[in-house]
Amino acid sequence: LNKEFEIFIDDWHQIVVICYQMTLALSFLIITKYALVFTAKRNSAEKYRFMNENEIKYFWYTGLSLSISFGLFLNSLIVRTHLTYSVFVFKMAISLGIVFAIAYAISTYLNEYYPFRLEKRLSRLRFKKRISPKTGKEMRLLNEEEGDVHLPKEMVKHEHFSAYDCDVWIDDETGFKLIEQYAVDSHALLCTKCKFRTLKKYREELIKEPTYCDSGSVKKFYKCSYCDHLDENNATVAPLGN
Ligand SMILES: [Zn+2]
Repeated sequence: LNKEFEIFIDDWHQIVVICYQMTLALSFLIITKYALVFTAKRNSAEKYRFMNENEIKYFWYTGLSLSISFGLFLNSLIVRTHLTYSVFVFKMAISLGIVFAIAYAISTYLNEYYPFRLEKRLSRLRFKKRISPKTGKEMRLLNEEEGDVHLPKEMVKHEHFSAYDCDVWIDDETGFKLIEQYAVDSHALLCTKCKFRTLKKYREELIKEPTYCDSGSVKKFYKCSYCDHLDENNATVAPLGN
């Protein structure tokens, strides 16, 4: 029986080595695919849309397959020593636990902290300098009020329903225009400093708890992902009773 167990462990070890190499390769494939598709997008607006919709998803799949790869690698290192059934089971549990711990940390980071960094990167992409193909000079981005004059009526209407934002870049010398559409978060507000719809709430603080008869108040903090302008306001919270 012991001999059989040894053979089983040897086979197991081989399978684990193959699997950790495969999952490692898989994570490289996923991130490479993301980078390639992103690079192939023709303009900033398309890149923006792709990044906004897919980046966190791709990073998560990459992170997940990296965690599994690491767990398998660890398993391959420890599985062939101290050969007993119970130690084997214990090592399996350790490897699995480590996979879960790493995957959980990655998921928390991507869902809680990463969205703010992503917002910043999206903003950088959207507002990076555009060069006019007519004159080779830098174009000027119009703010929301200036931009509306240059947009077809249909687009202005859409913009006010805040389905998407339209950026108008203009070459002042020749009047050449570049109009780009960005699907914006419906929670984004107009920034009072730079006049773009890039102001977003990042924190809320309860100032006064609402009671059954009295209303409470909450302080909301906003930050602009374009110009870093900070804003805050107080909102009332309705009383708990009806
Ligand atoms: Zn701003």
